[in-house]
Amino acid sequence: MPRIRELDAVTIGQIAAGEIVERPSSVVKELVENAIDAGARRVTVNVERGGLQLIEVLDDGIGIAPQELPLALRRHSTSKLGNAGELESVATLGFRGEGLASIAAVARTEIISREPGAPVGARVGAHAEWIGEIEPAPAPPGTGVRVAGLFENVPVRREFLRSESAEFNRISSWLSTFALAYPDRTFVLRHDGKEVWVMPAAADERERLAMVFGRKSAQAMLELDAEAARMLDGRLRGYISPPGDDRPDRRMQVLFVNGRLLRSALLAGAWTSGYATYAMTGRHPYGVIFLDLPPEHVDPNVHPTKSDVRLRYGTHVFEVVRRTIAATLGGDARKRFARETQPPNLALSFAPPDAADGLRVLAQLDRTFILAADGEAILLIDQHAAHERIAYEAIVAAAKCGAASEPLLVPQIVELDPVRSGALDRTLDALREGGMEIEPFGERTYRLVATPFGYGARTFDVAGFIDDLSDEPKQRDVRERVWASLACHSVTVAGEALEREEMASLLERLQTCENPMHCPHGRPTMVRLGPQEIARMFKRV
Ligand code: ADP
Ligand code: MG
Repeated sequence: MPRIRELDAVTIGQIAAGEIVERPSSVVKELVENAIDAGARRVTVNVERGGLQLIEVLDDGIGIAPQELPLALRRHSTSKLGNAGELESVATLGFRGEGLASIAAVARTEIISREPGAPVGARVGAHAEWIGEIEPAPAPPGTGVRVAGLFENVPVRREFLRSESAEFNRISSWLSTFALAYPDRTFVLRHDGKEVWVMPAAADERERLAMVFGRKSAQAMLELDAEAARMLDGRLRGYISPPGDDRPDRRMQVLFVNGRLLRSALLAGAWTSGYATYAMTGRHPYGVIFLDLPPEHVDPNVHPTKSDVRLRYGTHVFEVVRRTIAATLGGDARKRFARETQPPNLALSFAPPDAADGLRVLAQLDRTFILAADGEAILLIDQHAAHERIAYEAIVAAAKCGAASEPLLVPQIVELDPVRSGALDRTLDALREGGMEIEPFGERTYRLVATPFGYGARTFDVAGFIDDLSDEPKQRDVRERVWASLACHSVTVAGEALEREEMASLLERLQTCENPMHCPHGRPTMVRLGPQEIARMFKRV
């Protein structure tokens, strides 16, 4: 008896399908992508019992000629790729010719299709390795694929599925997210005979955003800065959440590369890095980014469901995405600051309260917050956060022009444990660029010889600084992390009494910052209670 033998066709089919059809939502993905590739304007998805009983996708696209129906179901048959050379420049969502074959390998599948010009349509069924006869059938123009009894012949796959409602939710969430990239198409989703949602072709992208993210979020989302997005061979567009409006996970960070909905670790990093100093640790902004690159710069052929891609010039793309996000947030922060501290020029005055124009510092609260008011609103400023932002931007500016430090008259000697000393070694260059000069001075001992300009006589808490660094999200640029931490350890802390003039000067300097609204760790620097908020507290509105 030979031990090694060839697998039978049915088993081979199931193994191949395993990579592509993981769960009901994978079937929906393959079929909806086919519909889009076929130029459909309207796509209807009917689901029964979470997709386990039935998934049906109907479209009004170009259809399939009757004699080609069996071919569409065969593995490695596609109309989207002529030869290996074209793999370099795939412009369709599909190209491997495996979608329908993989679905048929694990479910009872039927295609009914009619080309728009043809008088009548045709149907063909398939299951496992069997493909049925072509039969004429009445049908509207376009294609309908019915997939019944998913995984009935692969019981082990069924066991890995979640409940019907959880599987349905995956379908709904994938489809609605996918629809973001196709705002001019109509999508309809039904479950167990009931219409769950309809996304009619939208007049513009914001309208589609509102359907997916909700109207309020969609209105608040910032459109990416077109100027910053220019340094790319392709196109970068998108909408991102404003600072302060974020979520506990990354699920709503939607990314399309050449129309394909993806997860990309690289670009998730660019997202985090772009929001550095705008989002709090552990919180995630949301939004949608559309990246269109020349097809030959993208290799979608690295993942069976094409849910990740390899990018040529990935580092450059990372940098453009990061910078575009940062520029968008910066522009918005300056606009908001100007709006919230009207009149635009912070005319600080210490006039008595009845004088009512310009922003006035009224008091310090709890030695932590500054209370100020303009003609109509109350402003609460977190003194530490505000000062941190000012110091951070001063450090960044000084680092950029390379003139940053002030020598100490008496160097400070610090001794550290091995872990902290290793961590400090890794930050010495970034610290030096930020104006903090620390030299190794024997085993695990360091000499602090110069501090950032204007740092004052405060002693630098090296150990505290290093501990803070290790709490920071890893994906952030190391220099940004070091500078943010440096800023944090160099400024007024909560609990410190401030003179009125000190408070006024703090606000004045905050006004000149790139991002006056947030400290470098992403916490807000100020809260504004405008007439509407105040009226609401008194139940007037
Ligand atoms: P791929 O999408 O990678 O080409 P599929 O197995 O998903 O592979 O589909 C095989 C072929 O069947 C496609 O290339 C296309 O020509 C045809 N096809 C599939 N679905 C549709 C559809 N909804 N409308 C028109 N043609 C379709
Ligand atoms: Mg396909």
